[in-house]
Amino acid sequence: MMNAKYILKNTFGYDQFRQPQEEVISCLVSGRDALVLMPTGGGKSLCFQIPALLRNGCGVVISPLIALMQDQVSALLGFGVKAVFLNSTLGLDQIQEIERDLRDGNIDLLYIAPERLVQARTMALLEEIEISLFAIDEAHCVSQWGHDFRSDYLALDLLHIRFPKVPRIALTATADTRTREEIIARLRLENAGQFLAGFDRPNIRYNITLKDNPRNQLLRFLKSEHQGDAGIIYCLSRKKTEETASWLQGQGFNALPYHAGLGAEIRSIHQARFLREEGLIIVATIAFGMGIDKPDVRFVVHLDLPKTVESYYQETGRAGRDGLAADAWMVYGLQDVIKLRQMLDRSEGSEAFKRLEQHRLNAMLGLCEITTCRRHALLHYFEETSSEHCGNCDTCLEPVESWDGTEAARKALSVVYRTDQRFGVNYLVDVLMGSGNSRVKQFGHDQLSVFGIGSDLEINQWRSVFRQLIARAYISVDLEGFGGLKLESKCRPLLVGDESLNLRLDPKKKNVRQQTKQKLPEDIDMATWEALRNCRRELADKQGVPPYVVFHDSTLQAMADSMPSNIDEFGDLPGVGQRKKEKYGPVFLALISNL
Ligand code: ADP
Ligand code: ZN
Repeated sequence: MMNAKYILKNTFGYDQFRQPQEEVISCLVSGRDALVLMPTGGGKSLCFQIPALLRNGCGVVISPLIALMQDQVSALLGFGVKAVFLNSTLGLDQIQEIERDLRDGNIDLLYIAPERLVQARTMALLEEIEISLFAIDEAHCVSQWGHDFRSDYLALDLLHIRFPKVPRIALTATADTRTREEIIARLRLENAGQFLAGFDRPNIRYNITLKDNPRNQLLRFLKSEHQGDAGIIYCLSRKKTEETASWLQGQGFNALPYHAGLGAEIRSIHQARFLREEGLIIVATIAFGMGIDKPDVRFVVHLDLPKTVESYYQETGRAGRDGLAADAWMVYGLQDVIKLRQMLDRSEGSEAFKRLEQHRLNAMLGLCEITTCRRHALLHYFEETSSEHCGNCDTCLEPVESWDGTEAARKALSVVYRTDQRFGVNYLVDVLMGSGNSRVKQFGHDQLSVFGIGSDLEINQWRSVFRQLIARAYISVDLEGFGGLKLESKCRPLLVGDESLNLRLDPKKKNVRQQTKQKLPEDIDMATWEALRNCRRELADKQGVPPYVVFHDSTLQAMADSMPSNIDEFGDLPGVGQRKKEKYGPVFLALISNL
């Protein structure tokens, strides 16, 4: 594999392969199919880019993300790789020119959307040229089970039939076995080499905090940790994304909304600005993000609870693809739990489907409520073993206490039962606390034996007990939408004293957090750093590409750190291949010599 290593260094500027890049590359080079599961940011692209360069012919990359093709191709051109894309944004002239180049064998990599690939014209073209491999990116789109299903992907089994000799590689960051099996079956990858990388993203710090005053919490988080950083803030509703974005603008942040209701043009402008500008915040629904290739997203915030651990992991995974420190930060509360439970109850779908979704939601809620390491729980969910203490999540950094909530839970369940399973949390807490509230009197609940039995705890503690009971599915939320709580059969052993219950002790308001912000090495001064960033921005603007297409932050940091004084030293920096050395070396060296 000398040649693969040479391309890694000479073209892309890296010294070492990551796991399992090298094995995937040799699998494809030998003509075998491959299925690759690697987390976002793991380095999937090189797995097909390098073999496409090593084998004869043009590599065809099938990607659903037309909006990103331009940047992916620019990045490759920046490394000196002859890449093109074919999609609906091109004019006829451009298309004809690209087709000519393909026929002449001048292209290393062709990016194309699935709907275009299967057109007769494209198929005819591909049959005329030599193809080194097919790479099917975001391969989970073939799964009808998953949330990103694209019917166009179903036609991709055609490749196997029309081009039986060309190796295919399917790539995804979606972890679960079910999706993986569906990819194999639908794309006919039964004989493919399977490469499953570890799913851990050690540079991401997980933090899940109770909602208190979410806007204040968010503001504190952004101001203390992410001033001037790029990030994504996820909300459940379109309205909330717009309100949050304009509120953030009012607070002096550069923030834009993104959701499916915005119109294709505005969406693509906002996405393009996110990729090109530094330090922009996108406030989005889940419509934003699949395959967002921006390496320097420093934080992903959830202002609303995602429905599944899978979505949570995928969304937070968009942070820190460059490997530098990043935050996954979420606030959640009782209302989120109730809202999601109700949404699920009301959703269409078979009972079996709902049961499965409830199960997935329970896992998500479980992750919020655990008192042990978040990363360990996440990886365990994806059936991966890991250390029980990661040292880079909120529960590891600030251990949470738990308390024996058995007695309190019994009282809470009793009050639900005694009031006929018709009331919401606030009312139930009133009864427990013995409040003289007129509604309580009106219903005669001040006469119940449970009236006032909870005066030993505070209101917030009771809310916390109810939240955790709902989260753990001891209690369900009424279908009719009035928020009445009902007992589930699961609570019987607890009520009759056969089971005890440990609850999370919600921390008092404080929130002194250790900073995650990646400190620049001490001896780099800000003036140098800014000068390098400006130089990068100018070079990027001149070419109309995002700054990271010129160099990633990690390259710039290494440059500031080692201050190269000649072209060879410059070429040794990580992320500097032959082409970038020649193209950018002189500019940066001139700058550095004058600093
Ligand atoms: P994915 O597609 O899996 O999300 P990418 O292919 O975009 O990830 O790679 C993520 C980042 O890691 C990119 O910035 C890429 O340049 C970098 N990278 C990939 N492979 C290596 C490597 N062997 N050494 C150093 N950096 C790498
Ligand atoms: Zn941890």
